[in-house]
Amino acid sequence: MRHGKYSTYSNHGCRCDACREAWNEYYTSYRRARGQKPLAQYHAETMRHGPTRYRKGCRCDVCRGASARQKAEQRARNPEYVARELAAKKAKRRAAA
Ligand SMILES: [Zn+2]
Ligand SMILES: [Zn+2]
Repeated sequence: MRHGKYSTYSNHGCRCDACREAWNEYYTSYRRARGQKPLAQYHAETMRHGPTRYRKGCRCDVCRGASARQKAEQRARNPEYVARELAAKKAKRRAAA
């Protein structure tokens, strides 16, 4: 087993620095060859702030706004849901009174 080769990383499961680096290089060029973005960039873009990130727990302005927008859209598309929500609210108010 030789270190510093991506095959050692992938076939033998070695996670030493040399093998990890070789794997990163290999994987980056592999993605590039297939027209995919480097992994770090891919993550940065897919993890951008928005409703998905909101669900993962981010509460920044962007995520909150996106989530509120998404909810509003869902409501607009789903009048039944709104009616149910209203009924639930009314029931709660009645129970409190
Ligand atoms: Zn190694
Ligand atoms: Zn956010």
